[in-house]
Amino acid sequence: MPIHVLSPEVAAKIAAGEVIERPASVVKELVENALDAGARSIRIEVREGGRRLIRVSDDGSGIAHADLPLAFARHATSKLRTLEDLERIRTLGFRGEALASIAAVSRVTMMSRPADSPSGAMIHLEGGVQTRQTAVGMAPGTVVTVENLFYNVPARLKFLKAPATEAGHIHRVVTRYAMAFPEVRFHLKMDGRDVLQTSGDGSLYNVLLEMLGPETCRQLLALPEQGAEGGESPSRVGVSGYVGAPTLHHAQRDYITLFVNRRWVQDRLLSTAIVQAYHTMLPTGRYPMAVINVALDPFEVDVNVHPAKNEVKFRDQHTVFRAVQQAVRRALLEKGDISSITLRSESMVSSTTAPSAETEWRQLAHFGFEAQRTLGSADAGEAPSQGRLPVLRVLGQLALTYVIAEGPDGLYLIDQHAAHERVLFEEVRRQCAAAAVPTQQLLPPSLLELTPGQAAVLEAEQATLAQLGFAIEPFGGYTYRLRAVPEMLALGDPALALRDILSELAEGGGLWTRHADERVITTVCKRAAIKAGQALSLQEMQELVRRLEQCQAPRTCPHGRPTVLYLSAAQLAREFGRV
Ligand code: ADP
Ligand code: MG
Repeated sequence: MPIHVLSPEVAAKIAAGEVIERPASVVKELVENALDAGARSIRIEVREGGRRLIRVSDDGSGIAHADLPLAFARHATSKLRTLEDLERIRTLGFRGEALASIAAVSRVTMMSRPADSPSGAMIHLEGGVQTRQTAVGMAPGTVVTVENLFYNVPARLKFLKAPATEAGHIHRVVTRYAMAFPEVRFHLKMDGRDVLQTSGDGSLYNVLLEMLGPETCRQLLALPEQGAEGGESPSRVGVSGYVGAPTLHHAQRDYITLFVNRRWVQDRLLSTAIVQAYHTMLPTGRYPMAVINVALDPFEVDVNVHPAKNEVKFRDQHTVFRAVQQAVRRALLEKGDISSITLRSESMVSSTTAPSAETEWRQLAHFGFEAQRTLGSADAGEAPSQGRLPVLRVLGQLALTYVIAEGPDGLYLIDQHAAHERVLFEEVRRQCAAAAVPTQQLLPPSLLELTPGQAAVLEAEQATLAQLGFAIEPFGGYTYRLRAVPEMLALGDPALALRDILSELAEGGGLWTRHADERVITTVCKRAAIKAGQALSLQEMQELVRRLEQCQAPRTCPHGRPTVLYLSAAQLAREFGRV
């Protein structure tokens, strides 16, 4: 094909793809616009996970009638004029791309009325083309309605997840802004249901209370007041918010929420600063909860890193890192109840001895890699990656993570977590098919406070969860009563386990498969499986290996990672120079 310039429609759709990835991106951009317009109250209405309808209404400054079409032009913005303006940008938007992008891939209607205007005006666009503009009666502010998102971009439409998953993403976006702007009232309605409502009274704690419930909020620690910093942290960087006490740990990092000048950002460095501040206070593999805003001179931070504006670059990242880490550390040391950290659940006690195990693990992972590489080159024919395992004799445990075993023709290293996941997965799938999953009644039942995102997953996956042996009853709002769990989750804290499972599923994690129930089963098995860092007795290891030998596909975990590394006797002999 010779080089040619793309048609404006194709170019617009391609450019839109960088900004609008899924319904939640639309919500994000519209909410940002409302906040930039100084709204005190923002209403978000969503149908079918945003695929069918997204409507954001605000009471902000509005747009002059004559400017309405301009708002939808690409690179049209009221927020900056020169490149230098970008260095002091205080608004969330600045690229002038969002409305143009949304319009390119949906049917949009915008109604807007500035406070000093007697009436509002309405504009309608389909696939980026303006079809009408009329006057309308309305209260001051702006209402944007986006319908049939991606109706003209089949490739994107195909990649949308189930409505419940997309709804979860939207919910996360809205809660983030509700946390960053506690002085603004947020109201989120999904398929006619009120999902989130904040008072706009300016208190972040009250927003968190609404989102997380009292049980979780009791375990939050406020970061030290800025005034009380005593010159310890550089005054140029203000750090505020809440962190969870060490008792409040989660399986994923996604309970860490970060804002920079009230913009939600994903920043590996800052979340590492937070995690490190908990050093030795959390079990390995567990992450804290935190909601933190970093305030600094806009000049100190570049927000123009990516079209989605979720990443930033700091001029002086060390200072920011230190300020965040110190603020968190101080909150933990001054207010945290350190003595309560170890006994969260039985399965974790052994893993609190982590630091040295972690180092060993790294060395081992390296060894594992070496072994695999050698295998791949010299012994490809000898170690079948498919098929059953031979009968193995357990020799011992290495680094509290691997089982060492001997087979008829060599050495086997078994990853205890991956192997157990595989074993549970196959067993549970069989038990599900026979409707015979062993369960454990909880006496008394546990109360489960969920986030709306977790609740959405719970509702969507109800049937599979019930099949797996969970007995869950609604208990008003997002609280549920947990009456029974699969036996494999009965040790430790079953309610915590279920919450972890739901949040992993809400994140879209787990196995990607055509069978939704396999994704749930994998996630449950992953949570129930023996962890790395857990000491096992010889009997426990023998039992694990015996069950692994009986698996149909013993050599990989349900996620496809290897469970077993193999060094053949021939390979050993060669390596030792015996042949
Ligand atoms: P940006 O936010 O980067 O400026 P957008 O495409 O999101 O670009 O919006 C274009 C312009 O439309 C904004 O600069 C603003 O002037 C106007 N606008 C958009 N949404 C609103 C709103 N809810 N209230 C007032 N003005 C708005
Ligand atoms: Mg914008």
